Amino acid sequence: MSGNYDDVRHNLISMLEELDERLTMITQDVRHADEAGEKDFEEQATQNENNEVQDCLGNSARVEIEAIKHAIERIDRGDYAICQTCGEAINPERLKILPYLAQCIKCASLAEKH
Ligand SMILES: [Zn+2]
Repeated sequence: MSGNYDDVRHNLISMLEELDERLTMITQDVRHADEAGEKDFEEQATQNENNEVQDCLGNSARVEIEAIKHAIERIDRGDYAICQTCGEAINPERLKILPYLAQCIKCASLAEKH
């Protein structure tokens, strides 16, 4: 059954590699900014703002990486495309857009409200 998802698995792995690369780039940027050290106040303020943006990017990349890893695990286990909350099938159209979805639309929208 999991054989059907070979292409998806392939896709997820290249997404993972891409994100990993992006994350490495973000982290290197932050480190570089930290090394820059003494600067006048205005420049420092801009730098801090940049760091915040990069932190935020880094976090969403990390969340995405986790979701993708879990999706690959689910393919290997044979319960990919099944909502992890209620056990219903996840709409394939949604999976085409976001292949690492772990919840059906009902559970996803419920989770958002809480
Ligand atoms: Zn569900």
